[in-house]
Amino acid sequence: MRPEVDVMAGSSLIPSTFSFADCDSPSSFSGEAPAQVLLVDDEPRMLSSLSELLKGRGYILTTAASGSEAIQYLSEGPFDLVILDLRMPDISGHEIMDFMNTQHAGANMIVTSGDRGIEAAIGALKRGAYDYLRKPYSPEELIKTVDNALKQRRLQAENRHIAWQLESSERKYRYLVDSSPDIIYTLDHEGRFTFINDRVQQLLSFSRDELIGEHYSVLVHEEDVTRANYVFNEKRGDYRLSRNVELRLKSRHSDGEARTFNNELMMISLGANEKFQVPDSSRRELFGTYGIARDITDRKKADELITYQAYHDILTDLPNRVLFKDRLGLALLQAKRNNSNLALLFIDLDRFKLVNDTLGHAIGDELLQQTAIRLKACLRSCDTLARLGGDEFTAVLPELNDRQDAVVISEKVLECLRLPFQLAGQSVHISASIGIAIYPVDGESIEELIRNSDIAMYHMKAEGKNGHAFFDRSMLDASYQKIALEQSLRTALELGELEMYYQPQVDVKTRKIVGAEALMRWNHPERGFLSAGDFLPFAEENGLIIPITDWMLEAICLDLRAWNAAGGKSVRLSLNLSPQYLDRGDFFEKLRSALDRHNIEPSQIEVEVTENICIHNPQTAIEQLNKLCQLGVSVAIDDFGTGYSSLSYLHRFPINTIKIDRSFVMEIKDGSSQCPVVLAIISIARGLGLNLVAEGVETPVQERYLENSGCNTMQGYLYHKPMAQKSLLQLVRNQAYLL
Ligand code: C2E
Ligand code: CA
Ligand code: CA
Repeated sequence: MRPEVDVMAGSSLIPSTFSFADCDSPSSFSGEAPAQVLLVDDEPRMLSSLSELLKGRGYILTTAASGSEAIQYLSEGPFDLVILDLRMPDISGHEIMDFMNTQHAGANMIVTSGDRGIEAAIGALKRGAYDYLRKPYSPEELIKTVDNALKQRRLQAENRHIAWQLESSERKYRYLVDSSPDIIYTLDHEGRFTFINDRVQQLLSFSRDELIGEHYSVLVHEEDVTRANYVFNEKRGDYRLSRNVELRLKSRHSDGEARTFNNELMMISLGANEKFQVPDSSRRELFGTYGIARDITDRKKADELITYQAYHDILTDLPNRVLFKDRLGLALLQAKRNNSNLALLFIDLDRFKLVNDTLGHAIGDELLQQTAIRLKACLRSCDTLARLGGDEFTAVLPELNDRQDAVVISEKVLECLRLPFQLAGQSVHISASIGIAIYPVDGESIEELIRNSDIAMYHMKAEGKNGHAFFDRSMLDASYQKIALEQSLRTALELGELEMYYQPQVDVKTRKIVGAEALMRWNHPERGFLSAGDFLPFAEENGLIIPITDWMLEAICLDLRAWNAAGGKSVRLSLNLSPQYLDRGDFFEKLRSALDRHNIEPSQIEVEVTENICIHNPQTAIEQLNKLCQLGVSVAIDDFGTGYSSLSYLHRFPINTIKIDRSFVMEIKDGSSQCPVVLAIISIARGLGLNLVAEGVETPVQERYLENSGCNTMQGYLYHKPMAQKSLLQLVRNQAYLL
């Protein structure tokens, strides 16, 4: 008879792959659940009296009146206790016990039998019976035996449960330890591995088995062993002492590179007799070390890269400004200590901007890289070469015997740049201007030396570039003057200190003035009369050229009105236009409205632009010039042949006139020599049907040569210097009067 209540037995098998979901305890007979008891006897009277006897004691009773019925129940579900009659007609108690044993039924068995012989009892006990009761037994005896059997079973279950819990928590911790991204290990007091997790295999390709029992030094990189020993062998005062140490560990991976680990160590020392308890005596000895080693190789590499980039120029790989200052600081300290000299070279490439603008930034970058390589090759290993930014390089030359050493190195630098650079299939020539400042005469601090070498470099640029210049105090005055000049230029406009001068252009055949170039002058309150070349470059640098040109447009229109009134309508006016001004889209409108307002014919105006206007934005330049052309204004190319070769643009530009630069005219020294550049320019102009104006004509020889070569319009001191409007008006009046 099967009762309704059922208590299921669970499996206590733990899977080999661990999952926390599987951590429930094995369900089994515990003190809480009522015990399942199976009563087996073929004698109905015995069975019911047994059942009566155990009823009401909190058990769930199932009765089987034959061996086969018992087997049936036993195969259906688990029991905690089976009380089994030995002698039954169909299947004997021994056979049922054998069945239970093969099924691992696990129930406790109490065997009852009327058999007097000892064999039956031995047979039962051999098959694992808990007890053997000979019939007739007293009810008390049976109840006591049943109680004991169930109690034993409960204890067994509890033990099993505890064992399972231990095993499962051990698995849990092992799982956590093995799946940790770090190497976790313990060392005994002599530094030998007593435990190490699986991660060591993955990170270093050492197996845990070969490491257990080995000294930690088998894993530590040779160069780090001393440091490791120092930390691992530290004598502890505390019973626990933690330390952090960065060590490189050997790796057996194919790259063979040692990896860096941050080792967090916990040294555990215990009092001699106190195993795991916190000792309070001073007799402590090292019990062992527990450590976690974290692989920080990648982080370290990233850190190193970041640090490197913070101190280096990414493009050229040279030290940047920060590192340069640091090195210069160190070199200065050393020079001070040794009483020695040191040179700082400030190297700035000439015309780099032009290369960058014309050939593009990628080529510009490439040029800087190649320059860095060449410069490095010129210097000694103790010199520091740095890139401060743009095309500015600096070099610190420590332990200088005398100034001549700096000259030798500067010459070497200039020489190494002389060979053309091959960039994207083109040969590019470049030179440099070098400023030199010497410690201690030219400055004792980092800032002073940098500033003074910079000033010397600018001085070299102004002197014609491609060379070196030593700093001297007079340059400081010049550069202060430059700053002061720049400041006063801002107020010059408001104070009306600017004035337009005019230099006539003469037709060599008729000797008549056919045009005049407008040139700006500045009546400086302290420094006197300044030529355009003395201040307009600053105005270009700081943007003042825009308001200055606005003023100029107005000024020349007023002057033109006056000279037209004096009979000079046939005299054309040339005005110089800054590329910056042309770049701004509103130049055309400004000019047109000024001409309108003052009632001036556009055909009386010529705009002079340099070849370099096509560098920045050739398309806009062409558009602007086309508009001018449509309006009737003519366009001249100034300083032709000195800038970036514009021959390819020449066809696309609406040009009327080419001006032969003074530098070419100066080449004409006597009548017999040939000046191929002049001849070439003249033939280009002829070929394209353009007007020609020769600039800077100072001698009759030059005049004759130019005239014979086909140039008829001249401008230069031979005829007139630039003059004030008043003087020009006089000339115009005279000419008109002669007509
Ligand atoms: P540029 O257009 O080439 O002007 C010619 C320069 O050569 C002028 O110098 C002129 O005074 C000088 N010059 C003329 N004939 C002779 C000669 O026979 N011998 C010598 N040694 N020099 C001669 P300046 O006035 O100092 O102008 C320098 C440059 O400044 C000009 O070169 C021009 O590019 C620029 N500039 C002058 N005025 C203006 C202006 O109003 N606006 C703009 N944007 N630039 C101007
Ligand atoms: Ca000019
Ligand atoms: Ca010129």
